[in-house]
Amino acid sequence: MRQIIIAGNWKMHKTVAEAVSFVQELKQKELNPAVQVVVCPPFTALAPVAEVLKGSNIALAAQNMHWESQGAFTGEVSPVMLKELGCQYVILGHSERRQYFGETDETVNRKVKAALAQGLIPIVCVGETLEQREAGITEQVVASQTKGALQGLTAEQVAGLVIAYEPVWAIGTGKTASAEDAQQVNRYIRQVVASEFGSAAAEAVRIQYGGSVKASNAKGLMSQPDIDGGLVGGASLKVEDFVGIIENSL
Ligand code: PEP
Repeated sequence: MRQIIIAGNWKMHKTVAEAVSFVQELKQKELNPAVQVVVCPPFTALAPVAEVLKGSNIALAAQNMHWESQGAFTGEVSPVMLKELGCQYVILGHSERRQYFGETDETVNRKVKAALAQGLIPIVCVGETLEQREAGITEQVVASQTKGALQGLTAEQVAGLVIAYEPVWAIGTGKTASAEDAQQVNRYIRQVVASEFGSAAAEAVRIQYGGSVKASNAKGLMSQPDIDGGLVGGASLKVEDFVGIIENSL
């Protein structure tokens, strides 16, 4: 059985004070322990949020990292630094990073390997743009992004990570893929993993859906057999909304 994982990607939102207050409130909620809850604050809030989360089952993730452990890379943050702060997960290859910051399958692959080497669990994002969906090449796009990101990994490494299928046209737009459409692509991604890394890795790898997930559509999405949770942007910024999704995910 794969554990449902709901991760809140705060993007470039929340000051340290706002982030701390959010997790203090979240910690007070009785969250279903069967769901792995993850918060992904901006870099500036990681350390104070980690402090508040001590002793809770809520995991901490960063939203990006460099692939080197250290060096002359002004403005970058390394996996070693994230690990030191208590991060367990790291989002890699988010479509906003691919679109605005030049991330490619090759750099995502380097980052995935570096994260695993430090004991961080990558949440690897893949997904097609609207043009690609309309051109009927969704499967081609997600297959090549998945293979590119995971190239050179062992089956055991793949089994332990998380993939987030996020159609770019559904991110922050209020447009959600239907539960059936999302299930179809998630199942396809699992087949790609099976053909590259074997059926045990494919059965174990958790594949989330992301793109305008909210409390009202969480149940329909998460009840699909190949959707193992959600990567949530906008609706993860308010405790009530985020908790609503967590509660509706089982
Ligand atoms: C995301 O940023 O990964 C995301 C899915 O955003 P939203 O939920 O706002 O569409």
